[in-house]
Amino acid sequence: MIDTHAHLSALDDAEAAVARAAEAGVTRILTVGTDVDDCRRALSLADRNDGVYAILGIHPHEAARVEEGGVREICRLQNHPKAVAVGEIGLDWFRNYAPREDQLRLFEAQLSMAADIGKPVVIHTRAADDDTLAVLADFTGTVVLHCFSSPHMLPTAVGRGWYVSFAGNATFPKAVDLRLAASRVPADRILAETDSPYLAPQPVRGRRNEPAYVVHTLAALAQARGEERAELEAQIERNAAACFGL
Ligand SMILES: [Zn+2]
Ligand SMILES: [Zn+2]
Repeated sequence: MIDTHAHLSALDDAEAAVARAAEAGVTRILTVGTDVDDCRRALSLADRNDGVYAILGIHPHEAARVEEGGVREICRLQNHPKAVAVGEIGLDWFRNYAPREDQLRLFEAQLSMAADIGKPVVIHTRAADDDTLAVLADFTGTVVLHCFSSPHMLPTAVGRGWYVSFAGNATFPKAVDLRLAASRVPADRILAETDSPYLAPQPVRGRRNEPAYVVHTLAALAQARGEERAELEAQIERNAAACFGL
């Protein structure tokens, strides 16, 4: 099993969490950097752990703090053999940690970098779906909607062949609409993630999340789709390999 989105550097025991994940059968983890320093930490974790790969980008929350040349530095770090995608990038009008114009500029700059280097993009969008879609209108590369929480975006995602990645919130009892969306994602486009240390799934909800817990999200997705767990697990492995070139 693979966890396609975790923030290992935000765990105080990242290496132990990688070991616990392996024990639970989660042998590959894509860890996400959120600024230049964090991306360096992600790469160093990838260097030290066979099954760990890095997704490198500057998070929209950091958009007001990006230093001169930050995006160029991310682009340079993308040369690392275990750097598999540009992310997470996008727009967050919910927290509004950074002014909208800064977020838009940063999103566009990183999208154009991804187009230049031919890597997939991992998208964070919160309370900004229409604007996110507008920015992505002309992007023809591979797209992953991470922590998918906007069922109304599903027709666009499916129509454009984007990957749709579900996190722990899809397991919550009230998230009927998310599980319905999960049942409608084409088999070759579904992914699962933890977004550790956030959003721990049922039945470990409320705890600090870690990659081992992606198995709970997998179980909920399999049930929603009426599939065997092992079958969906193998499908997600193939999807992640195709999407991220693993
Ligand atoms: Zn996110
Ligand atoms: Zn994340």
